[in-house]
Amino acid sequence: MPELPEVETVRRTLTDLVVGKTIQSVTVSLPRIIQKPDDIHQFELDLAGHRILEMGRRGKFLRFIMDGVVLVSHLRMEGRYGLYQSGDPVEKHTHVIFYFTDGTELRYRDVRQFGTMHLFAAGDEFNHKPLSKLGLEPLDDAFTYEAFRDVIARRTTKIKVALLNQEYIVGLGNIYVDEALFRAGIHPETPACELHEEQLRKLHAMILETLNEAVEAGGSSIKSYVNGQGEMGMFQQLLRIYGRKDEPCVVCGHVVEKTVVGGRGTHFCPVCQPLKRTSAGKSKVRRKVGSADNQGSGGVKG
Ligand SMILES: [Zn+2]
Repeated sequence: MPELPEVETVRRTLTDLVVGKTIQSVTVSLPRIIQKPDDIHQFELDLAGHRILEMGRRGKFLRFIMDGVVLVSHLRMEGRYGLYQSGDPVEKHTHVIFYFTDGTELRYRDVRQFGTMHLFAAGDEFNHKPLSKLGLEPLDDAFTYEAFRDVIARRTTKIKVALLNQEYIVGLGNIYVDEALFRAGIHPETPACELHEEQLRKLHAMILETLNEAVEAGGSSIKSYVNGQGEMGMFQQLLRIYGRKDEPCVVCGHVVEKTVVGGRGTHFCPVCQPLKRTSAGKSKVRRKVGSADNQGSGGVKG
């Protein structure tokens, strides 16, 4: 699934490809992609004649900002856009085609068919699902340490679970959360409320560092995700902890472990990211840390 850096890369690519173009007509061949309006005929009618002014993004949602309307698009698992000339053969799994007045076509392909599109009157998109309840935008200037601390520091949930909650911070997916926690030296199962200020500051800085590196590298992907112009993400090669189960930690050499936190596969180094059990009075912390065969548990510092 594309994460925030990939979607940001797609946004930038689409900015180059479609901003300034005017939609002549639209055809939809898979109605369930269109979540709003209910009637796909209305969707096609409502988009005709509009000019794309700007490409925006909110979390992992792309925003096609037009004169009077905004199209909100989520790629989900496999959705992708491509710009074609009219007459180019239409590839399988192409579900929506935007025909521009200059003879080019923006085509939306989605093998898994999980992607969504919502059409709103301009400005109205933030008052409704799916954008209405989203949290802080980590690549915005407003994502300061203080803003981060205010949404995270009091949570009693595990820090990894808190970071994945889109109502707190948007767009931080499984890969980047593991990377940021590793770089910050924080065990993913640490309750958020037990992190002290120095750890929170470090984590905030590492979230920014990880995301910015990924955006610069064009986004990563586990499944050779291709962005709007067909470039492959390069960040995958920069991953320090994610996907490295049983490999030596790049910092200390200890074997990288994999566990499950909040239902998600989670990579961590038990030496670089020790789980401190500070308060004896709290209910028992589950002994689920470490891999099933318990290898490497001797490396945890007391
Ligand atoms: Zn390590």
